[in-house]
Amino acid sequence: MMKKKPLVIAHRGACGYLPEHTLEGKALAFAMGPDFVELDAILTRDDRAIVFHDHYLDAMTDVAEKFPDRKRNDGWHYAVDFSLSEVKSLRLHERINPDTGTAVYPGRFPASSQVRFEIPTLEEEIELIQGLNTSMGRQVGIYLEPKGPAFHRKEGKCIEDAVINIFREFGYTGRDSRCYIQSFLPESIRYMKDTLKSDLTMVQLIGDSTWKETPGVDYYRMLTPEGLDQVAGYADLIGPWMNQIVRDAGTGREPEYTNLVELAHKRKLDVHPYTFRVDALPSYVKSFDDLLGIFFLKMGVDGIFTDFPDRASGFLKRSGLR
Ligand code: CA
Repeated sequence: MMKKKPLVIAHRGACGYLPEHTLEGKALAFAMGPDFVELDAILTRDDRAIVFHDHYLDAMTDVAEKFPDRKRNDGWHYAVDFSLSEVKSLRLHERINPDTGTAVYPGRFPASSQVRFEIPTLEEEIELIQGLNTSMGRQVGIYLEPKGPAFHRKEGKCIEDAVINIFREFGYTGRDSRCYIQSFLPESIRYMKDTLKSDLTMVQLIGDSTWKETPGVDYYRMLTPEGLDQVAGYADLIGPWMNQIVRDAGTGREPEYTNLVELAHKRKLDVHPYTFRVDALPSYVKSFDDLLGIFFLKMGVDGIFTDFPDRASGFLKRSGLR
C-alpha cells in the first residue's frame, strides 16, 4: 500500500510572512503549494462570519484608536459588539501584544506598516480560494475552526450554524469536498454532525488542560487509549499540540517521544499537530528542517499546521514525500 502524502496546512495563511487571516496572506500561502488553507471564523454583531482568530480585536487592529468607548469592562473590544461595516473600517496589522504594543514575532511583517489590510468575511475568503483553484488549476482545501462555540452561545449566537450554512452555499457538503472542520469542543463537533447533519470531515483539536480555554474538556483523558476510542466515535482525525507528540523537556535535555501517533493510527485517526513556526522552535532542535524531520519521518504525522507553508512543502519535496 502506498503511504498517503503528508499534508501542509497553511496556518492562518502564510502568517510567517504577512499578517494572519488577510486575503493577501491567503493568496501568498496559496502560491506556496499547501494542501489546505487554515481559517478561524467568528461572528459580528450583525451575524456575519468573519475570518479572525481572537474574540477581541485589540491585538490585530486599530480598534482602540477608532472606537475608544466601545470596550467591555475587561478592557477588550469584542468583535461581536461591532457590525461588519465597523469591522471593515479597521486597519489590520501584524499581531502585537496589546499591553506593550510590541510585535509578538518581531522578525515578521512590520506591525507598524501602513499597508491597508482588512478583516475578510468568510465568503470573501472562500471566493478567493475557489477563484485561485480555478485560475491555477489546483484543489486547495479549506480547514476551518468555528471559534468559541460556547462564547458565541453566551452572546445569543451560533457560529456553527453560520459556517455550515455558508459552506453549503459554496458547495462544501461532503467528505470529498476538501473542507475540514476543526474544534476543541467535542459537543460542537457532535452538534454539527448530529443536529446540522454535516458530512464534512471533522477534526478534534487537542489542547492542554492547563490552558483553561475550553472549560469542562479533559484533554489529558482524550490522549489516553480510552479517550481516543471516544474521539474515534465522532471525529475523523485529531489535531494535537506538537508537545503531545514530542515533549520538550527543556534546553540540553532529550525530548520525550510519546506514542500518540501510533495510538491514533490504530483507531484510524489521522494526526495533524500544530503549530510549526520557524521563529518559535522547540528547544530540542536547531533548525526547522530538523523539526520537520522528527515529525514527518520519525513520528509519521499525516500533516502539520504551519505559519511557513513554503518551508514545509520544500522539506517534503526534498524528502520525496510530494
Ligand atoms: Ca485556528
